[in-house]
Amino acid sequence: MRSGLLGAAATSAALCGLLIAQAAQPALASTGKHGKPGKPTYSAGAPSVGDPYFPDAGNGGYDVKHYDISFTYDPATRHMDATTTVTAVATQGLTTFDLDFRGPEISYLSVNGHRAEFQRSGQELVVTPRHKLAEGHRFTVVVKYAGTPPVVTDPDGSIEGWVPTDDGAFVPGEPQGAPAWFPGNDHPTDKATFTFHTTVPEGVTAVGNGRLLSQKTKKGWTTFLWNSTEPMATYLSTVTIGKFTVTESKTPEGLPIYTAVDPQLVTQSAGAVAQIPDIVDYFSSLFGPYPFNTAGAIIDRAPDVGYALESQTKPIFSSAPGVSTMAHELAHQWYGDSVSVTRWSDIWLNEGFATYAQWLYTEHNGGATADQTFNSASNYGRAATSSFWQVVATDPGPEDMFGNVPYNRGAMTLHALRGKIGDTAFFALLKQWATSHRYGNATTADFIAAAEKASGKDLTNFFDVWLFQKGKPATW
Ligand code: ZN
Repeated sequence: MRSGLLGAAATSAALCGLLIAQAAQPALASTGKHGKPGKPTYSAGAPSVGDPYFPDAGNGGYDVKHYDISFTYDPATRHMDATTTVTAVATQGLTTFDLDFRGPEISYLSVNGHRAEFQRSGQELVVTPRHKLAEGHRFTVVVKYAGTPPVVTDPDGSIEGWVPTDDGAFVPGEPQGAPAWFPGNDHPTDKATFTFHTTVPEGVTAVGNGRLLSQKTKKGWTTFLWNSTEPMATYLSTVTIGKFTVTESKTPEGLPIYTAVDPQLVTQSAGAVAQIPDIVDYFSSLFGPYPFNTAGAIIDRAPDVGYALESQTKPIFSSAPGVSTMAHELAHQWYGDSVSVTRWSDIWLNEGFATYAQWLYTEHNGGATADQTFNSASNYGRAATSSFWQVVATDPGPEDMFGNVPYNRGAMTLHALRGKIGDTAFFALLKQWATSHRYGNATTADFIAAAEKASGKDLTNFFDVWLFQKGKPATW
């Protein structure tokens, strides 16, 4: 699924126009982007979607519908043996197309059942199918590969991708780790459904997104089949592997909860795990229905990672989380996972919302009020001279995407907005934002328009001082 192309709004609109025209006039033959009706044209798919923070991320010319990722992993040897099947629809006539892939050596690649040529350069896997692919047609790519998937280092120096642990692997993918272990269209604007078939030594658990359909042991190896039926961005996928204490339960409303906790962390994380149903329930009352058909958490020991990530339906934690971190990652299920960014520079739409949700949950739990947190020393209480105020919230840069500003200035922006437009309009806006962009993508401009609509106010100056200017806002 794909919503919104980057830096190509006009082209994308034109393409839609063509598709609509075609649907209305089926007598016309397929038309390429630059083609005249009647003469299909074919060209190379773009090697990127044009997101300035990650210039190689994503690709053009197709829309992925489904990933079927099947692999065996042995923690003892760190060897993966994998077959990934990508099902996509061509959005233009294609002579070649790219997938993003940083994984181990490829032994076989086919398109629509025919062995295809490919070349690799950096994260680009350039595929030349035997037969050109017609616009609007579905195609299937099968990639077989084996070896040890890489750890990926981010612009801020943190690690992601495939991170071996002492009993398995911790697998975070934000913002660019997913291509470490499967080939795909690695940008949040191309969401798809996923199936994971993971085989690990008996006694080890593989935990993926979505629901567990089956778990079968044969000759000392166990295969876990996980199914993620709601659209998911590649960066939110995980199959985290290790020795886990697994607990399955249901919320009072019947939402299944699956938690996998490293046995050494069970006691330390019990408080946060116990709160999952209450957090989901409280956020559902504020943000609208929980967007997915299952919830949970994966709590592992991956000390070199040092952060948690809102992997869809099952956030992953690299150490035992507190209640507030649990609340942050669960809030992301609405804001980040269901409603995703269109470009990475808008990361405050993820982190500011999840951080503000933490403030709200802390208040709900009898801790500091959101207003007290807003005014605290790590937020509005920072001196105007602090370097904190010198980063623009809507353009932190790839090195500071996960720094303080998108989180704290983002959350402050929401609290200040609440003061500006009042509780009724503000909470209606939060719900409406989750509903109207469910399973899709949105931008800061979309949010500003929604806030102006919900409040009936011109908020140009408000958002200017909070989101687009440097400096500590004084009046708004
Ligand atoms: Zn976050």
